[in-house]
Amino acid sequence: MTPDQFRSYGHALIDWIADYRAGLADRPIMATTEPGQIRAALPVDPPFSGEPFDAVLSDLETILLPGLTHWQHPRFCAYFPANAPLPSVLGDLLGSGLGVLGLNWQTSPALTELEELVCDWVRRMVGLSESWSGVIQDTASTGNLLALLCARERTTDFSLARGGLQAQAQPLTVYMSAQSHSSVEKAALLAGFGRENVRIVPHDDTFAMRAESLSDLVASDAAAGRVPCAVVVTTGTTASTALDPVGPVAEVAARYGMWVHIDAAMAGSVMILPECRWMWAGVEKVDSVVFDPHKWLGAAFDCSLYYVRNPEHLIRVMSTSPSYLQTAADGKAPNYRDWGIALGRRFRALKLWCLIRSEGVSGLQTRLRRDIANARWLAEQVAATPRWRVVAPVTLQTVCVIHEPPGISGSTLDAHTRAWVDAVNRSGAAYLTPALLGSRWIVRVSIGAEATERADVAAVWATMRKLAEGRVINVVEKGPEEDLTQNPSAAVGGTGVPSKL
Ligand code: PLP
Repeated sequence: MTPDQFRSYGHALIDWIADYRAGLADRPIMATTEPGQIRAALPVDPPFSGEPFDAVLSDLETILLPGLTHWQHPRFCAYFPANAPLPSVLGDLLGSGLGVLGLNWQTSPALTELEELVCDWVRRMVGLSESWSGVIQDTASTGNLLALLCARERTTDFSLARGGLQAQAQPLTVYMSAQSHSSVEKAALLAGFGRENVRIVPHDDTFAMRAESLSDLVASDAAAGRVPCAVVVTTGTTASTALDPVGPVAEVAARYGMWVHIDAAMAGSVMILPECRWMWAGVEKVDSVVFDPHKWLGAAFDCSLYYVRNPEHLIRVMSTSPSYLQTAADGKAPNYRDWGIALGRRFRALKLWCLIRSEGVSGLQTRLRRDIANARWLAEQVAATPRWRVVAPVTLQTVCVIHEPPGISGSTLDAHTRAWVDAVNRSGAAYLTPALLGSRWIVRVSIGAEATERADVAAVWATMRKLAEGRVINVVEKGPEEDLTQNPSAAVGGTGVPSKL
């Protein structure tokens, strides 16, 4: 493709995306294609000779589009907001268009320096002190892994330079709650701690970790000769946006020299609102924090921020310095390959930079405040409606609800919940996520898509009422055909294992 052809197809594609965004509200939200349907509509063999780009655009419209679930839809209230405002889309496109890579500072100085700048802008926006340094990663899952790798190396005084964990005399233990995201447990396993050394700290009835229970567990492990190494607290759990008590947890951890990591993947964005910063009070006492601007804040996926208090430690754990990557600038500017796992680095800072410049801090704050107010409004409607109940504190933008028709409970109630949310999703008028919270199936209404206004929340609520209250309940009914307890994307904790959303 020549630059002139690119100009022409690029305009067509931008027009297509603009029309797609403008017309989203009229589309059914959840894709209803069957597994394998999209693939079956596409050729088995790759084209031997190149095709005109028009053919790609045509398949996009007729084959791929029906197979999309529309995350930017104004009535998308499933999982979490994964906003991609158009300025950040342009930033992402620019990153691909430039086609530069950061392997070290010299391979694209602007890539490194803009990343330094936006990490610092966001640090200021969320009220973290100057003692923090940030870096962009792909996802919070990666940030959680980095934290546990760094914890392991601090506790073992750099065992990686010797026999690694395998040479440690005593096992290292890691602490999390059943409401922690599944990536936290996965990180502990990948970092070599072993499932037997992962401790699930009990939570209270708001689904927040109990610091006293942590203290008891750590004390008993230490007394048994194990080595307490790290605790992961969640600010805004996946299922219900519960808030683990950062300060009290950090105090327990300090007694044992443990690493404290905050997983604020979803909720970190809200710290741009000064009135919400109490939610992670004690943050200045922890070692690392991860949060995802690619969720609620609105940097197009993927863009996760990992902040550490001691970058030298991170660099010592992660650095490699083969001869072909060494330059005269080493030591004068950061080489971000030493701040994470991957060598090659995309120009991800551009999308965050474009987002913040276009919306301004106040624009972003206004949107998040709107979403919190919408969630509170919905919670009030639910609480005021007979047979409906809000089942977890509404701290942010997620409202966890249950509809309880008279005379049913237990598995019949669970089957009712799963059936009505399935009906809502299949209707195309709203998209919600069922989840296990404690031992009960509930429905999460996760508000915060960029396009979601109060009228959309009201429409979602009307759909929920119509399809839940209108169901005829057979007391011996079974759930929908799919067994959601086997579906990792449906189970979000409360069952003794970290949540899998
Ligand atoms: N941590 C929490 C609390 C989450 O809610 C999620 C996703 O929902 C993750 C981690 C994983 O995020 P990512 O997809 O960026 O790895």
